[in-house]
Amino acid sequence: MVYYQNLLRSNNSLEDYSVNEKVISGKVIGQQIREEIQERVERLKEQGVTPGLAVIIVGDDPASHTYVRNKQKSSLAVGMKSELIELPVTVTEEELLKEIHRLNEDDTIHGILVQLPLPEHIDEDRVILTIDPAKDVDGFHPENVGKMIIGQRAFLSCTPYGIVKLLERTNTPIKGQHAVIVGRSNIVGKPMGQLLLQRDATVTYTHSRTENLAEHTKQADILIVAIGRTKFINETHIKEGAVVIDVGMNRDENGKLCGDVDYDSVYDKSGAITPVPGGVGPMTITMLLKNTLLSAEETCKQS
Ligand code: NDP
Repeated sequence: MVYYQNLLRSNNSLEDYSVNEKVISGKVIGQQIREEIQERVERLKEQGVTPGLAVIIVGDDPASHTYVRNKQKSSLAVGMKSELIELPVTVTEEELLKEIHRLNEDDTIHGILVQLPLPEHIDEDRVILTIDPAKDVDGFHPENVGKMIIGQRAFLSCTPYGIVKLLERTNTPIKGQHAVIVGRSNIVGKPMGQLLLQRDATVTYTHSRTENLAEHTKQADILIVAIGRTKFINETHIKEGAVVIDVGMNRDENGKLCGDVDYDSVYDKSGAITPVPGGVGPMTITMLLKNTLLSAEETCKQS
């Protein structure tokens, strides 16, 4: 494994992509990509198309409302149209599906996102299946997941897609590298491994039933952690020089936002590391904007 710092130095891209030589800043890289998106949105607008993102939120969970506000603010900031649909927690599944059908038919909407989780009386799978795959900018529809796995053009799940961009834009080698994924959720872990496999990494998946987790994680050139356990991964889990990507978004005992990786413990041993906040989080929203842009560009090509 070539050390990340050396790579950055040799490519002279230190100032562009990192706040320092080891920290992979999703805030900086995400901002750069958002500027590129904004330029492409302007070009589409000149052709009479304004990319539109609709976000549906059910209930009044404060964390979900914060995420949704951020998504709306970010889409407006790059010049997109944003439609927020707030439904009460008592909404029926049929009413929610009707709203999705309406958005599927609306030509000014290019991306539809339903903020998860949904109340228990609503079947999430049915909701995802109802979204037109051509507007499924979260990349959760089975059609997009299937296409992604067989390497066809598809909307990619935003968090793994954002992580690939972090690795690519920091010139982190992927081909031939051993990537170990901790966590196998449908929205992060599983698609993450597939995207790295497509880029010729050797991929190991680990999860809560994995025995001797550290024996696996210590093999990783690239370690991606998405488990939702505060500061679970420490320096005993990693090998010297590993690139560590922390997807976790948790609160510590003082209510401070932190990741699944114990940053202070891992920092010295790692070759590069994403912080929380300011690492993967900003990339997830950025790739949501990117998917909405791609959807709008596609409709523009077809018309
Ligand atoms: P899920 O709860 O859906 O999945 C967690 C995964 O971690 C499961 O596969 C589980 O294994 C595995 N796991 C749990 N405990 C352990 C353990 N002790 N050792 C090994 N594996 C374990 O979570 P998500 O994938 O949705 O999210 C993971 C984290 O990432 C959360 O903190 C979430 O908030 C954050 N997140 C952040 C995003 C961002 O934009 N930054 C976006 C999405 C998520 P098993 O399958 O065996 O149960």
